[in-house]
Amino acid sequence: MSSVAIKVEGLVKVYGAIQAVDNISFEINEGEIFALLGPNGAGKTTTLEILQSLRKATKGSVCVLGYDVSNNKNVRKLKKEFGVLPQDFNAIDKLTVKENLSVIAKMYDKHVNLDKLIMTLNLEDKSNSKFEDLSGGLKQRLGIAGALVNDPKMVFLDEPTTGLDPITTDRINHLIKNITFNKNQTSIIV
Ligand code: ATP
Repeated sequence: MSSVAIKVEGLVKVYGAIQAVDNISFEINEGEIFALLGPNGAGKTTTLEILQSLRKATKGSVCVLGYDVSNNKNVRKLKKEFGVLPQDFNAIDKLTVKENLSVIAKMYDKHVNLDKLIMTLNLEDKSNSKFEDLSGGLKQRLGIAGALVNDPKMVFLDEPTTGLDPITTDRINHLIKNITFNKNQTSIIV
């Protein structure tokens, strides 16, 4: 039986007069792909940022991989355990795909084999291409590779297919479904 990777209870986030997240609760199991859906301004990014301990909740409890994210002592440990594709992902224009991944990999104590990761994301033909020369879909694939570089237990992908054509969207969704790091124990939140 799979165990719970994320447990959110009664989460509320208020920015001044704006209620960005209004009392939501959910659970995500290990190895599960969980999609957070809602219209613009529904509070998806805010929720993801709270799960990643980038923002503090106004109310409610959030437990990620067994850690209470409101406790600052847990944040450093937790950040090593997850990978993130931010909504506004960008990389270094003049560096190649592999060089950009090496830069990201240097932020962690351990990382996966970069050539294997490049193959997983079907980027081998573009390994030596500069970031500035990639199409939008290829840039997103590099972003997803960057989110997997530390062999994370939890991956946050904030709108990984926004702005992409239907075929590229389908290809990226397929890649996301096939992420098999940690023997399928990686939880993915999109
Ligand atoms: P989108 O689909 O457009 O990216 P979202 O569901 O991710 O939207 P959020 O970005 O979480 O929504 O925003 C939720 C609400 O909180 C919006 O009304 C937004 O304007 C507001 N908001 C987000 N961040 C802040 C902030 N730092 N300060 C004040 N208000 C904010």
